Amino acid sequence: MRKMALTLPCAQGILRSGTFYGREKRTGTMTDFPELEELNDDSAAEETPPAGRRKFLLPLLLVAVVMLVICVVAGIFAFQPFSAVDQRPRIAAMFATATATSTNTPTPTLTPFPTNTPTQTPDPVTPTETGIPTETPIPTPTYTPTPLPTPDGREREYFIPILMYHYVSTPPADADIYRKDLSVTPENFAKQMQWLKDNGYETITLYDLIYALNIGWPPLPEKPIIITFDDGYVDNYENAYPILSDLDFTGTFFVLTDVTDRSAPGYMTWDMLKEMSAAGMSIEVHGREHIEYSGRDTNWLVYHLLGPAETIEANLGYKPRFIAYTAGKYDQAVIDVAHEQGFWAGITTQNGTHHTKDNLFELQRLRVRGDWSLDTFEAVIINS
Ligand SMILES: [Zn+2]
Repeated sequence: MRKMALTLPCAQGILRSGTFYGREKRTGTMTDFPELEELNDDSAAEETPPAGRRKFLLPLLLVAVVMLVICVVAGIFAFQPFSAVDQRPRIAAMFATATATSTNTPTPTLTPFPTNTPTQTPDPVTPTETGIPTETPIPTPTYTPTPLPTPDGREREYFIPILMYHYVSTPPADADIYRKDLSVTPENFAKQMQWLKDNGYETITLYDLIYALNIGWPPLPEKPIIITFDDGYVDNYENAYPILSDLDFTGTFFVLTDVTDRSAPGYMTWDMLKEMSAAGMSIEVHGREHIEYSGRDTNWLVYHLLGPAETIEANLGYKPRFIAYTAGKYDQAVIDVAHEQGFWAGITTQNGTHHTKDNLFELQRLRVRGDWSLDTFEAVIINS
């Protein structure tokens, strides 16, 4: 009787749930199994059934469960046209869902976060209450753009440092003051990143920031920081990327797509960018070439904003959403066209760390200068 009591809620839950595509209505309803109907009644459960019926009850339940399983599997293949996609993870996910339903434990679901997770066409027979666990890999040939979260109407503000780097290498001996200012040596960069790690900073992406501002999700770490690199220099791949990866940090790299297309010396190639993207780095738009965007007409701006975005999408498989204005120059026309073309935010060279929904196309950064000591770096971060 004890074993039966443990088994029953599960069986009842499965039979009650009614989520198995209607097949069980023909093969396994409560009325087909009078024993179950009786046991469904609490008072009946207290009574001791006749010895003969009790003997057959457990095998009968097992048979019913097996029939349901067969119906589910048959239903999946009956309703799903043949495809090359491996269905096993989806079937496993559906069983996981069915189990959660039968125990009446609500499974918290969150919209998959903007990680370019491949998504599948909505399946009309899939229970939608809990969805498919996001950790289940579902191969799919189609790419679904990351949706901009619908703002929930709440005003939020964050003070998060967005660090700005350019070169991560030792400048040549004849470098001018600008090149020296834009260059952080690999040694100093490694020390800065290690200091961040040792002091509890966790890197987030610009996507995280936009989601947090709009819907307050995902929850940000206690000490969030965003690390960005402008211009797409090859030393970013050679020196910065390995250091970031070793510390489990992520970075955002703003590249010049026409420069990348012609494999210009000194700049990262598409192969490098693909590798970095696959490793969790964000590759976003700086422009086609390193020319100023302010004072341009709409056609020019569309060509120089949409063009790089489409090139990155074609090469890396996702639509970039952020532009770092070249030389920090922009005007209202740049903001308007960028917004129209699907960008979520524009990143400036203005000094600051205060971010709200009102200044998404004028995000502030902290320029890390080439002559900074580690003490200076620490002081700037702590006081930001
Ligand atoms: Zn630049």
